[in-house]
Amino acid sequence: MLALALDMGGTHVGCGIVRDRELLASSSIDSERAESLQSLLAVIENELTKILNESGARVEECDGIAIGFPGIVDARQGRILSTLKKYEDAIHLDLEQWAMSRFGLRLRMENDARMALLGEQYAGAAQGVRDVVMITLGTGIGGAAIMLGRLVRGAHAQAANLGGHLPVDFQGHDCVCGNVGCAEAEAGGWSLPRLIQETPGFSESTLASLTHFNFQAVFAAAHNGDSVARAVRERCLKVWAANAVAVIHAYDPEIVVFGGGVMKSADHILPFVQEYVAKHAWTGWGKPRVCAASLGTNAALIGAVPLLSEDLLVS
Ligand SMILES: [Zn+2]
Repeated sequence: MLALALDMGGTHVGCGIVRDRELLASSSIDSERAESLQSLLAVIENELTKILNESGARVEECDGIAIGFPGIVDARQGRILSTLKKYEDAIHLDLEQWAMSRFGLRLRMENDARMALLGEQYAGAAQGVRDVVMITLGTGIGGAAIMLGRLVRGAHAQAANLGGHLPVDFQGHDCVCGNVGCAEAEAGGWSLPRLIQETPGFSESTLASLTHFNFQAVFAAAHNGDSVARAVRERCLKVWAANAVAVIHAYDPEIVVFGGGVMKSADHILPFVQEYVAKHAWTGWGKPRVCAASLGTNAALIGAVPLLSEDLLVS
């Protein structure tokens, strides 16, 4: 199968040409300042056409376009149902019509974390595993689950998707989703500045001199002995590990795959989460293995192939 793939991230749009398990060509569009998806469509068209030419493939050979979108997506109806402060006009766009009129191709859409999990199960860390959950750590925290070899979608297309919005502290911070104390509100990328600044001793921390906070800076400062960075790192690790136990209890997976940009610090994260799972997850057979996504930021692009191959009538 040959697919055009789009991964609509919070700060960039990943574009790819995928033949089966191989990414033939890819590129990235900066979307941080994009006010709408409509305003990006012409740029996306140009970029897909460019990398299609680079890949040596022709559009007539393609089986379709797949879009991974950061929101609640009903793949069965081909509709984006809900967005969260990004590409809010997408709900009203006829993207199937766009794909057909610009490329002559059918379109299939799915939530971005689900598409990443499809990619990892098809060609990555979870290849051949029938029961697997994924947690993506980035600006937000994404979730997805595959049970008995099929994506879990639920009655309203949101099952397993809201892993980052499972509460870890009912007395915690307000989340953008309307809930309180979600994993994402306690240790997601967007909540990191507040988490750092409210940690006692912040003004004496090396982190106080930074104009922009990210997890890489926190892990580096913690490595150098900064006590505020160590406290923040400890708290985030505990939130992510608690989130892993929650999805293990909910979906009974063989393995838990962690993905997203934060996994540049996988050497620190995985042993901590594995130990926490061993101690706190209630299982009757052993413990799920905790591992890192192996396709990195390409996971959702590779997931285009299984998504386009899927028979939605039985999912
Ligand atoms: Zn939430």
